[in-house]
Amino acid sequence: MSKVLVIGCGGVASVAIQKCCQVSEVFTEVCIASRTKAKCDALAQELAGKTATRITTAQVDADDVNQVIDLIKSYQPDLVMNIALPYQDLTIMDACLECGVNYMDTANYEPEDTDDPDWREIYEKRCEEKGFSAYFDYSWQWAYREKFEKAGLVALLGCGFDPGVTQAYCAYAKKHQFDTIDTIDILDCNGGDHGYPFATNFNPEVNLREVSAPGSYWEDGHWVEIPAMSIKREYDFDAVGQKDMYLLHHEEIESLAENIPEVKRIRFFMTFGQSYLTHMKCLENVGMLSTTPIEFEGHEIVPIKFLKALLPDPASLGPRTHGKTNIGCIFTGKKDGKEKTYYIYNVCDHQECYQEVKSQAISYTTGVPAMCGALMLLTGKWNTVGVHTVEEFDPDPFLDALDKYGLPRQENFDPVLVP
Ligand code: NDP
Repeated sequence: MSKVLVIGCGGVASVAIQKCCQVSEVFTEVCIASRTKAKCDALAQELAGKTATRITTAQVDADDVNQVIDLIKSYQPDLVMNIALPYQDLTIMDACLECGVNYMDTANYEPEDTDDPDWREIYEKRCEEKGFSAYFDYSWQWAYREKFEKAGLVALLGCGFDPGVTQAYCAYAKKHQFDTIDTIDILDCNGGDHGYPFATNFNPEVNLREVSAPGSYWEDGHWVEIPAMSIKREYDFDAVGQKDMYLLHHEEIESLAENIPEVKRIRFFMTFGQSYLTHMKCLENVGMLSTTPIEFEGHEIVPIKFLKALLPDPASLGPRTHGKTNIGCIFTGKKDGKEKTYYIYNVCDHQECYQEVKSQAISYTTGVPAMCGALMLLTGKWNTVGVHTVEEFDPDPFLDALDKYGLPRQENFDPVLVP
């Protein structure tokens, strides 16, 4: 019996909300609140009569902490699920603290305006100290640890697939498969084809910022940064086949390095087709990925926002995307004094997702873990107060929930390793 406030109503939120409605004995009431209320109303209407969950909607600009506070005070939820954008993480965390409510999200904080001089000063110091230059990192949200602990509240960070399930896979490997883990390779493969020459599978602005940034990995206690897309490997993925994949910086590497300190190397690879990479390079070269506003015929335009308006809405890719995703982690390490390798992953089919929730697998593989993470918090299975990432909690009930609600795990005890 719980009330949940979901902020955001895009591709991922719409899956998470539909999955919450499949578990109406826990999610008895859900308020869908977003910047554009019409999207919330449309989803509420679609779900009307199909679920026992009582759905209401609201308009909120989550960049404004006072609006979020007012909404939380009037709705009185047990949990706020932030499935808007990473830009809103801090304002929503502030509002949760003010109102005494648990918090969760699917991606760690990054600022919308990377030209802001105050933010830039802190960012440049961090780049130098830590050795990676991604715009996002956990420091902003880890700074809330003491505040959440003192308030007796839980903040669950990054509970999508990657970050999210990948960290639960690491916690599971550590708990059940290894005494010590030496290396972790996180492999994110999308074998789906939507038929467009170029489109992104989730929010284009967040996606293109991530992919065009320098890559980095964790090795022997420090970061190694490399030019974007400069480490390429081929891998033969179960249910998908042979794909090119590239080493990227990814947020869960940072928390895993802290929470599994014995690990000697952590890398993250994502598959990309040549067409995607050629388009992205071209857009980058002509300045279309820039977040710095320019003056155009009397209007101020942010190039990447304009590009977002031109590209297909990720939520519209569902009907046309065919193929499968395969996301998981390969481990090497030791168990009972012997060397061991282990691969745990999930395969998800784009069209099966579409049949179930009218969405492609990228939103599905993020929205289902968001619902399952909320389920862990609402049922008290994950209740350690403070600010935590997924690997800090017991992976067993979470992976059981994923098995049950659409993202079953598969295992391979003799995987091909990534060179
Ligand atoms: P979308 O762009 O599809 O949706 C974002 C939603 O947030 C929209 O409904 C948007 O409203 C709303 N929103 C944006 N700004 C505000 C604001 N100021 N106040 C209130 N609502 C706002 O994004 P996705 O669904 O693709 O992604 C959602 C989140 O999931 C992102 O943080 C993304 O980084 C993360 N993600 C995580 C993954 C993981 O595996 N962990 C994988 C993929 C995504 P409007 O309709 O008005 O634009």
